[in-house]
Amino acid sequence: MHQRSAHRSLLVIGSVALDDIDGPFGFHKDLLGGSASFIARVASYFTNKVSVVAVVGDDFPKHHIDELTALGVDTSGIERKAGETFHWVGKYAPDLSTRETLDTRLGVFADFAPKVREDQRDAQLVLLGNIDPTLQLDVLRQVRAPALVALDTMNLWINIKRDELLKTLAKVQTLMINDEEARLLAEEHNLRRAAAKILKMGPTSVIIKRGDAGALLFHGGGAFAAPAMPLADVKDPTGAGDSFAGGLMGYLAYAGDLSPATIRTAMIMGSVMGSFAVEKFSVDGLRDLTTPRIQQRFDELAELAAFDRVRL
Ligand code: AMP
Repeated sequence: MHQRSAHRSLLVIGSVALDDIDGPFGFHKDLLGGSASFIARVASYFTNKVSVVAVVGDDFPKHHIDELTALGVDTSGIERKAGETFHWVGKYAPDLSTRETLDTRLGVFADFAPKVREDQRDAQLVLLGNIDPTLQLDVLRQVRAPALVALDTMNLWINIKRDELLKTLAKVQTLMINDEEARLLAEEHNLRRAAAKILKMGPTSVIIKRGDAGALLFHGGGAFAAPAMPLADVKDPTGAGDSFAGGLMGYLAYAGDLSPATIRTAMIMGSVMGSFAVEKFSVDGLRDLTTPRIQQRFDELAELAAFDRVRL
């Protein structure tokens, strides 16, 4: 194992939200959600150098933040402001394969101006979780010289803030999005072609998350596919993408290098953490994970994808 002190620091910006989720397992109200909630919790299993910049309203239950703090996450950059916490309402199809956003209430995010503290500006890894691209750019302007900046986004921002998103995208190394969003952003249905178009927008690598079909990485060096764990019980896909991102970036922080081999392993770690997230509602599938459990699922995934290179 690596020395903890050797870990790289990871700065996360994103939403900390309350979600209402409807679907085949009923209606659930005021669940803890938000990109940063999933990312930071997941990354905390790999490194104790995770810090978050976000905002919550005065209606936000304090215990959610206390839990993150107890996991070793620096939560002092989560501001509490008068007003409503970011609230997302989504509805899943009976087979959980698609979802629809029924409502997005920005609340305190509407006039949020993220402040990156002096001690956070030297973060080595930066994950700009799904949030208004203008805020993502705002954070980027405040950090000094990160080794890697990754950005996640969603259809809402591609649709309503395309120009701002393109500006932000030009300044990051890695874009992580789902297949539907990649098609929307690139205006191209074929994913390989969509990825090639996105790579011309600035990032040097693009990761396309495909739910239970796994994730694809495209970069100058070619492509890599990470399978998704075939699960018998899926309850709530919310946060799968963020947990993937948290696992990937958390592992990169843990490993301390950005070699192609490490990035491949990080993709698998992303898939492992996404699989835990969907087994329960909200962040419940990510509670009380242990290194042996994470290791076991990592090994299962390695076994699932292992094959011999035969010569015909
Ligand atoms: P994922 O399932 O990984 O795409 O992430 C779902 C989470 O994203 C939910 O917990 C929501 O609270 C959050 N979310 C949904 N819409 C937005 C948005 N427009 N901006 C920021 N976060 C959002």
